[in-house]
Amino acid sequence: MFDFFFKWRHRRIIRRSSISEKQWQDAFSSLPLLAGINAKEKQQLQELTILFLHYKAFEGAQGFVVTQSNALIIALQACLPILNLGINSFSGWYSVIVYPAGFVTRRVTTDESGVEHVVHSNLAGESWQKGPVVLAWDDTENAGIIDGHNLVIHEFAHKLDMQNGVANGFPPLHAEMDTELWVEAFSAGYKDFQQKCEKGKHIGINCYAATDPAEFFAGLSEVFFEHPEVIFRHYNNIYDQLRLYYRQDPLLRLGRKS
Ligand SMILES: [Zn+2]
Repeated sequence: MFDFFFKWRHRRIIRRSSISEKQWQDAFSSLPLLAGINAKEKQQLQELTILFLHYKAFEGAQGFVVTQSNALIIALQACLPILNLGINSFSGWYSVIVYPAGFVTRRVTTDESGVEHVVHSNLAGESWQKGPVVLAWDDTENAGIIDGHNLVIHEFAHKLDMQNGVANGFPPLHAEMDTELWVEAFSAGYKDFQQKCEKGKHIGINCYAATDPAEFFAGLSEVFFEHPEVIFRHYNNIYDQLRLYYRQDPLLRLGRKS
């Protein structure tokens, strides 16, 4: 009954969307990341994007004004990973905050001996558990070019990871997936990747992904959608798990399957 109600409500929101064909065209043409999606996927992505824009509030920070075109570019990229997962995978939080450029955070942490430390960090984005996603527009604007780095996918991958608690590189898996296979693939891959980074060996994945398992999942998700062949080549088992989790095969979509 509830399912039927939500579907009906979503159809109505989609039908009433005011986004013009020109706005869609402009947004799609600025996002090479979306090249290769077929007509059915395009329609699905547009529908998810409309729902995303309906349910999430965009807020500019430090004087930045989020235009409809800015929001569209963010939403389209945020919705690519959930193309086959549905809008409910982004439920439980409300807003997207956009800074004009990288921003500085000030956090107070307490160490084991109870001493407080003030930590300042320069960030391009962050995701809060049950809270907002924060993005720097200068890094977001060009995120959709295909260079293996995508801030939007990175931050929203954290959001997916946080569906079952703190971000730890272990999002809620689908019933048909095997938890053991996920853990094996990601544990072995993480260890190997940390070693590669320590040795200064670059394989096309940013070494920030070696920071912790949550960053590994988010970092590999970026590469999965932009340079899937890198994951396929170096971490074949992880590629399989990500393909099953996202229910997408970017290698196939981008025509890079040999
Ligand atoms: Zn991160």
